[in-house]
Amino acid sequence: MTNISEIAQLGAKVLRLKAQVVADVRSAEILQVIEIMQDTLATTQGVGIAAPQIGVSKRIIIIASRPTARYPSAPLMTPTVMINPAFQALSDNKEKGWEGCLSIPGIRALVPRYKEILIHYTDQQGSLMEARLEEFVARIFQHEFDHLDGKVYLDRVEDNRDIFAESEYLKHSLSV
Ligand code: ZN
Repeated sequence: MTNISEIAQLGAKVLRLKAQVVADVRSAEILQVIEIMQDTLATTQGVGIAAPQIGVSKRIIIIASRPTARYPSAPLMTPTVMINPAFQALSDNKEKGWEGCLSIPGIRALVPRYKEILIHYTDQQGSLMEARLEEFVARIFQHEFDHLDGKVYLDRVEDNRDIFAESEYLKHSLSV
């Protein structure tokens, strides 16, 4: 059985809320939320999803970098569920890169993000995990993390000229 949710679109209030910390990682409710996030993400070309995007204001994200039509040069990784994630930049180095969002269809933009970050999160078994992320996967993490604080990637665009219609982005064959 699959549980597929609609994806909250820009303008929806839930995308602008600060999401709540998950207290009981292994509760049936949280398990259900994660299943809906996994099944919903699987129906898209996305490389990550945050719980607010399925209308649930809780601090849960899934990072699932893989090459897709939307991100052809994305590295392949096992989709990872991260509960109550946190991060710190390992250097002040930021780089602009292209992003899109399932909540903002048809748009791509250049967004500055930290290149290297150290992350912490709780996994589905309740274990505290640590990892070092860089480049595109670090970018996905920072994008999804922003969703938990009521931010979207357009909030971080430095120049409106860095915003493209997806059709133009694809026409110019810009890489990720
Ligand atoms: Zn997004």
